[in-house]
Amino acid sequence: MVVEAVHVPDSLAEATAQAARGGHVMAGGTAVMPLVNYGIVPGPELVSLRRTGLAGIEVGDGTARIGATTTFSEVADSPGLSVFRPAVATIASPVIRNMATVGGNLLTDPPGDFATCLLALDATCEVAGAGGSRDVPVAEVIDSGLRPGELLTAVVVRLPAGANWFYRKVTRRRMNSGAIMTIAATVETAGGLVTTARIALGGLAPRPVRAASAERALAGRPLVPDVVMEAGEAARADVTPADDPFASAWYRNRVLPVHLRRALLG
Ligand SMILES: Cc1cc2nc3c(=O)[nH]c(=O)nc-3n(C[C@H](O)[C@H](O)[C@H](O)COP(=O)(O)OP(=O)(O)OC[C@H]3O[C@@H](n4cnc5c(N)ncnc54)[C@H](O)[C@@H]3O)c2cc1C
Repeated sequence: MVVEAVHVPDSLAEATAQAARGGHVMAGGTAVMPLVNYGIVPGPELVSLRRTGLAGIEVGDGTARIGATTTFSEVADSPGLSVFRPAVATIASPVIRNMATVGGNLLTDPPGDFATCLLALDATCEVAGAGGSRDVPVAEVIDSGLRPGELLTAVVVRLPAGANWFYRKVTRRRMNSGAIMTIAATVETAGGLVTTARIALGGLAPRPVRAASAERALAGRPLVPDVVMEAGEAARADVTPADDPFASAWYRNRVLPVHLRRALLG
């Protein structure tokens, strides 16, 4: 498909109207432009979100609201979002991070590394469409996408305490690499025992998934190597890895417990 028109609306209302008419939304364009170049963009019209005013970060009360078109460079530069810096540093390269957006990371296929973080944090997505706006759990957006013509406007997330937040991306090379696996987790303990564990895995299924079996295996137990390895073995029930140029499905399954242990215990 050849692109015949690129709309750059000045407002969200105009952008949702153009998306509802079938325009393909583009934020940073780092995923969309390769499709345009290969002639496989899904429609002849693009709707750029560049001027819709959806970028911005508000932090307060332990919560962050990140506008959909906020770039990863802006996330990395935000003092209030410093807990995400190590994760953001694993996404693509500085050049791509200047363009790639939080919304695009969630709605590209497959959803990316920051989407895995948002899943571990049970983020809420603010979505706008011709019929109004609604809040949607991030897991639903990752599993089902948005309704036709809808736009993501922001994500709202409860910020984890640094000591309870864990992130690890396993790659073949340092920059611009797809994940062998990405692990994002919040784990809280009291009296040496795990009270809450939310673990999200990327690169191990068609989309990021919650490792519910691993979360159950950790509950009420000490966060020590044997227990975490057992949780990693349990997590194999939650994933459906595939072979790709970065690693085989067999390898991903095999090393999952080791990387979960390294993610949670260093
Ligand atoms: C060289 C290279 C390296 C990369 N490395 C990584 C990596 O390490 N980790 C990683 O996670 N990703 C990586 N990516 C993938 C991609 O760049 C990122 O996921 C990026 O965050 C996508 O954001 P974007 O704003 O560029 O999305 P776009 O390309 O603009 O859009 C992506 C998709 O999301 C939709 N979309 C975007 N914004 C909205 C919105 N607000 N509402 C509704 N739909 C929307 C678009 O319609 C499109 O389908 C890489 C890409 C490249 C080219």
